[in-house]
Amino acid sequence: MAVTSGSCPNCGGQIEFRAGSSISLVCKYCKHVVVRTDRDFQNLGKIADVVFGDTALAPGDRGTFKGRSFSVEGRLVLQHPAGGQWEEYYVVFAGQPAWVSEAQGFWQVVWAAQAPAPPPHHLQPGMQVQLGTHGTFVVAEKNEATFLAGEGELPFAAKPGTKRLFVDLSGPGGGFATIDYGDGTGAPQIYVGSQTSFAEFQITERGGDRPAAAVKTDAIKCPSCGAPLPVLSAGTERAACRHCNAISDVKLQQVVARQAQARQVPGIELGRKGVMPLADGRGIYNQEWTVLGYVERSTGAQGTDDWFGWQEYLLYNPQHGYRWLVYDEGQFYYITPLGAGDVDASRAPVFVVFRNLHFRRRNAQQCRVDYVLGEFYWKVQNGETVQMEDYEHGREIVSVERTASEVNWSHGVIVPVPVIVQAFGFQVKTSPYGAPPPAAFNAGYTPPASSGGGSGVIIALVIVLVVFVLMIAACGACSSGSRRSSGYSSSGYSSSSSSGGVRGVGGSSSGGFGGK
Ligand SMILES: [Zn+2]
Ligand SMILES: [Zn+2]
Repeated sequence: MAVTSGSCPNCGGQIEFRAGSSISLVCKYCKHVVVRTDRDFQNLGKIADVVFGDTALAPGDRGTFKGRSFSVEGRLVLQHPAGGQWEEYYVVFAGQPAWVSEAQGFWQVVWAAQAPAPPPHHLQPGMQVQLGTHGTFVVAEKNEATFLAGEGELPFAAKPGTKRLFVDLSGPGGGFATIDYGDGTGAPQIYVGSQTSFAEFQITERGGDRPAAAVKTDAIKCPSCGAPLPVLSAGTERAACRHCNAISDVKLQQVVARQAQARQVPGIELGRKGVMPLADGRGIYNQEWTVLGYVERSTGAQGTDDWFGWQEYLLYNPQHGYRWLVYDEGQFYYITPLGAGDVDASRAPVFVVFRNLHFRRRNAQQCRVDYVLGEFYWKVQNGETVQMEDYEHGREIVSVERTASEVNWSHGVIVPVPVIVQAFGFQVKTSPYGAPPPAAFNAGYTPPASSGGGSGVIIALVIVLVVFVLMIAACGACSSGSRRSSGYSSSGYSSSSSSGGVRGVGGSSSGGFGGK
């Protein structure tokens, strides 16, 4: 069953190649990358000492994807220039090499394809590119990844530690592609496929070792004060302690920043789970989400009339990734990351088109992170800023964050406050910016009945409040037009990011890292 076998040129251990498309492998005994040539095996050096995550796929697994059989032959760990790391899986479908990767709960699968690759210096984030017969794509990210470590077989030969240039592209309807320019010495490799969900992969045989996760969830202590620091998602990079406000790197277990007190107490308790009955920007509804993080952001100079602040809650679901609830001027927005190819931005900044709807530009501004609490999938830092613009259509918003290396779009829809009260127990705990809390927002809370005549008054008051809330909900669309800024923001999804992107991840997935 092996296509080639022999001895490791470094340690002499037995090695064998299983897939005809494989060019190199990582010796399981000495962890050196061994490349096969026509004549012999050559040693390209030892991989970095990286612990693989406790991931959904591992080399040796077999299964089917939409009825097509595949085997997982290898995986690798890449480092993003912003510091994060991510894994990709080298998968073979009936001899055809493919890459499977995951970014914040969204999965991508791309197959080796034939198409002309534009020179990399012609490509910039947001630009449209024709990939032969595969259609038109939008450049979502152009960046450099460092090949740190691998396991099993790989369809290219690269020395550990070398940098490779990649361009990720997004197409309409969930299309996804990547161009791997390698180290610039060989021909670029194009991979074309789509976004998918892990549920589409049926694993029929689990072959590989699954080493313990690099980060044990729910098991860390705040490196600053020693209090328990809950970590509910394996993708968490940073966590901020509710007792001492220190922000820590979860993998290093070190304090990376300190911050002042929050402006207010989060109205939704962190760690709380809730079911969102309304559809998100991807049409997903009735799923349970866990509230992982809380962020206070603002725009404008502090102490001036321009200053404007708001709150955001990070939601997580293991199958669907991340969403946001943004609480801005008494309204909630439910935010979903989009692929760059889902939005037609050819007429920006006048308007953009999403799902055949025209979204008119509302504003553009620089947003700042003032305070964070809980856990985050990117290297969040208080004080960091990002440039963003948003566009609106009725109760919906489309927003974009742009940096030099990538473009990240997201969709938001106004959600009536009572829905969030019902789903997550939202309550305004202290006054935002010194104003008394609008009573209607606590309408989901029924005060304990007091004895005597007072309870009748309370019941009447609750009824009045409920009616008021319904009126507000019905009028959500009209009030949105008159709102001032809103710092509702985008989510760095499709890819890595984070050179300045507040929601960037600093290392997630580019679709593929193949090439010879
Ligand atoms: Zn060896
Ligand atoms: Zn602490």
